[in-house]
Amino acid sequence: ATPTSIMVGTGRAAELGILFQKGEALQTLRDVDVVALDKTGTLTKGKPELTDFVVSAGFDRAETLRLVASLETHSEHPIAEALVAAARGDGQALFEVLDFVAAPGYGVSGRIDGRTVLVGADRSMTKNGIDISSFSHQAAALGDEGKSPLYAAIDGRLAAIIAVSDPIKETTPQAIKALHALGLKVAMITGDNRRTAQAIARQLGIDEVVAEVLPDGKIEAVRTLRSGGRKVAFIGDGINDAPALSEADIGLAVGTGTDIAIESADVVLMSGDLNGVPRAIAISKATIRNIR
Ligand code: ADP
Ligand code: MG
Repeated sequence: ATPTSIMVGTGRAAELGILFQKGEALQTLRDVDVVALDKTGTLTKGKPELTDFVVSAGFDRAETLRLVASLETHSEHPIAEALVAAARGDGQALFEVLDFVAAPGYGVSGRIDGRTVLVGADRSMTKNGIDISSFSHQAAALGDEGKSPLYAAIDGRLAAIIAVSDPIKETTPQAIKALHALGLKVAMITGDNRRTAQAIARQLGIDEVVAEVLPDGKIEAVRTLRSGGRKVAFIGDGINDAPALSEADIGLAVGTGTDIAIESADVVLMSGDLNGVPRAIAISKATIRNIR
């Protein structure tokens, strides 16, 4: 590729809000076979809302929500913001928390008013010896609706099943269609529940799902997708997407994401609109075609 044609291609991309941070990226993109996307904050808005909060027998809903939200004021996870907002919306004053611990990919715990409170994914409960089978029907139904189920335990007893729902960005369905029109496979990589991930993938027509990935597991997920010599582009926004952005044949960061994701990427999509991905690939193909 000549420097001039690369300049023309990157200039055209820049007009569309697609920033090539590395020159080679324009040449690599045209060879991509699989586009793998992070779910939360990439396919979705990354702004979940509380949709369901069902307590076990013997637990008071308002009191349990208050304990959960108090704990979550110490977490920066988007799920935490949803729970705190819901409790504040109910006009609840929150409690002081001692010994707060965040376990990435699992959940959070702490001591409130002499009680031990744990909030998180199913694996967080299992790890702490809490049986969640009494909510297995609810969890499956919530997952099938594309909602993310999580749980709260108080003093070692299962207190509630909670669900949050993170809306899909309005621009995402069109972007997936455009990727398919380019003949590419589309995959989703997420730390979220498998049923939830599959429900969202079904809605969007996504071909492959890698779910329940721990924060340091996205790199392995990208390696698996690359097997058989497939060229993989990964798109993400979060701190835990940074290693996968480097591991992929080409990494594209959502400009609304974290600094570390942007630094690790070859290409930055200035807006959150994923239509930048098929556009960038089309520009890559056109540029290289002109050269040859
Ligand atoms: P994702 O970005 O896909 O949600 P994470 O690795 O951040 O992936 O989290 C995985 C899962 O762990 C979440 O879907 C949620 O169930 C649970 N989790 C993580 N942090 C929290 C938190 N602060 N409160 C409740 N659950 C949490
Ligand atoms: Mg994300």
